[in-house]
Amino acid sequence: MENSKEMRKWLDDMALPHPLVVAGPCSAETEEQVLKIAHQLKDTDVNYYRAGIWKPRTRPGNFEGVGAIGLKWLQKVKEETGLKTATEVANKAHVDLALEHDVDLLWIGARSTVSPFIMQELADALEGTDKIVLVKNPVNPDLALWLGGIERLHTAGIKKLGAIHRGFSTYEKTKYRNIPEWQMAIEFQNRFPDLPLINDPSHITGKRDMIFDVSQTALDLNFDGLMIETHHDPDNAWSDAAQQVTPDKLVQIMRDLKIRKESD
Ligand code: PEP
Ligand code: MN
Repeated sequence: MENSKEMRKWLDDMALPHPLVVAGPCSAETEEQVLKIAHQLKDTDVNYYRAGIWKPRTRPGNFEGVGAIGLKWLQKVKEETGLKTATEVANKAHVDLALEHDVDLLWIGARSTVSPFIMQELADALEGTDKIVLVKNPVNPDLALWLGGIERLHTAGIKKLGAIHRGFSTYEKTKYRNIPEWQMAIEFQNRFPDLPLINDPSHITGKRDMIFDVSQTALDLNFDGLMIETHHDPDNAWSDAAQQVTPDKLVQIMRDLKIRKESD
């Protein structure tokens, strides 16, 4: 892929801090919940406030997200806290609605990256956007599929493009919810050295006590940022309860992480 230097440049051009921090609940649940967490994250290191409103659940019968009404709540977050906003998009209708409601960062989930048809639909819908678009790795450890999805978006003229490493499914049970396969993340960095790469320790670990260590490993490997699911009452979250941290815990994690300076 050409012009890979331009990829990192958008991070510098936007003067975003290192590491970039995206935090907020797995799912938007109610307007009160979305605003409460956002206010708690307001004066922290968080740059982008995430909340999933269309939730791709592996099996039916679970909470599938509040839908488009959540976009109005994210608009309120921006008005009341000044935080920039982020949500997952999985089809053209989601993209159109998210752009209409001025969401600042759109991410593509692991269950979408596996499908070249979905990736092409998203690339077409996002063509030429100046919003940030981050592509999670596919659920399976297939580097080519991840790179291919990113190439489709790059070809569609998306300038602020980046990736999220959220780990990979395995049949065997491990201590991780999704094994990190750090070697693949390193290979990804070698293939696209200038593409911003964010780590998602929440979906890698599935457990809040492991988030610090995975975040530290990612920063030691020169990742550009972290996406950490954060909820005011994690145990009662409507999705991914075991892996969410409170806003106070997030502040503590960010304080304790050793962050490398550019000059190191
Ligand atoms: C999420 O970010 O809440 C999510 C569903 O993630 P993933 O696509 O990594 O499973
Ligand atoms: Mn989640």
